[in-house]
Amino acid sequence: MSGTFLGMPAFPVNAADAVQNSQLRHNLRRATHTIRDKRSRVVAEVPDWAELRSAAKAIKDAALRDLDRHLLRLEETVQAAGGHVHWARDAAEACRIVTDLVRATGETEVVKVKSMATQEIGLNEALADSGIHAYETDLAELIVQLGDDRPSHIVVPAIHRNRAEIREIFLRAMPDASPDLTDDPAALAEAARLHLRQRFLSSKVAISGANFAIAETGTLVVVESEGNGRMCLTLPETLISVVGIEKVLPTWRDLEVFLQLLPRSATGERMNPYTSTWTAATEGQTFHLVLLDNGRTDVLADEVGRQALRCIRCAACLNVCPVYERAGGHAYGSVYPGPIGAILTPQMRGMGTPLDDSLPYASTLCGACYDVCPVAIDIPEVLVHLRDRSSHPRAERAALRAAGWMLARPERLARAQRLAFRLRRLVPRRLPGPLSAWTDTRDLPDIPPESFRDWWKRTEGGTR
Ligand code: SF4
Repeated sequence: MSGTFLGMPAFPVNAADAVQNSQLRHNLRRATHTIRDKRSRVVAEVPDWAELRSAAKAIKDAALRDLDRHLLRLEETVQAAGGHVHWARDAAEACRIVTDLVRATGETEVVKVKSMATQEIGLNEALADSGIHAYETDLAELIVQLGDDRPSHIVVPAIHRNRAEIREIFLRAMPDASPDLTDDPAALAEAARLHLRQRFLSSKVAISGANFAIAETGTLVVVESEGNGRMCLTLPETLISVVGIEKVLPTWRDLEVFLQLLPRSATGERMNPYTSTWTAATEGQTFHLVLLDNGRTDVLADEVGRQALRCIRCAACLNVCPVYERAGGHAYGSVYPGPIGAILTPQMRGMGTPLDDSLPYASTLCGACYDVCPVAIDIPEVLVHLRDRSSHPRAERAALRAAGWMLARPERLARAQRLAFRLRRLVPRRLPGPLSAWTDTRDLPDIPPESFRDWWKRTEGGTR
């Protein structure tokens, strides 16, 4: 399997394949239900959860409203603390900046902290093209990398793998793994620890993302569970952090709200085991911050769609989504799967390919994603908004315009209904040509012999 998502077919094609895989469905159901049950329990313990959620929404909205000002402030504070700031318009520019920075150190190996932004820009592949090997150090990312696979979940990238599959991957791709390795979680974690230890000690360059960037102080924040991120952030001589511009928070105090919401929403923990904060470089280290746009200002320009930039990547929306649970993350063709991916990816990449056009339809609009979102992103609202922007066959547009005209006046509807009753035996079970997708997986309902209004009139409200 390729490490990138480029050129994938539309969501329904991918999903149709994925739902045939019973092992995948079993793995996903088990994992998502475990996390969502834990999340429900720990969220219920917080009496002011609704207020925290409103505060997070307000803080993010305020930060996005004045994003230019906060970003310039962040640049100023990072530079004042001894760091270097780079601006990247798109993925290619960000990859070029990072590759040049690594090349300048003379190193050919880097260690990486789990980072969605670097996956989004295809950094590992760009580094490999320049002869630089990137070692993922997050356990789940390591499983994905060793398995020559793609991530399928925001917080648990290898959620589609079970223990037996992980053991097989380790035995195949980890030269130092013992042949007696079992699929016991502790044994698998120990094998990964031994494999990574040498990398931590020998690597001179580390690459990270960040969960938050505080404009007021120039501080970056990484929230994680394993502690591997902290090893990467502190041991190497050069640290390069690639951070999406929407990650900025105006003040240090804002962090308080998000550090309560994120761990409970992401892993169902009251507090994550490791929260690393750093302001430019630790002693003797060189620090570079690469601020990444890559479509985010386009998202910001859309009044309805911009709320997607509030996302703190907790994945709570994935864990409750009935579509994600069955189709899995790969079907979305992006590093951002699930409900947030369905609204973020087409906005950042721009609609126009069959895959990106299809993503806003990868939902039942049940609203479970909105209910659990800690920053109150109204995902169904954005999905409907994007469906309006996606391309529709001309025949479908004409049919909907005609329906709108007919439904605008009761007498028009009544006339159309009478005509339909007369012609009902001629109505096919499937719609033809460009409208066929409407009836690919469902029959057209039978047309009754009369309308409800006519029945009501004829029977005097059902009394005759
Ligand atoms: S949209 Fe909300 S629930 Fe989904 S990952 Fe982002 S913050 Fe979490």
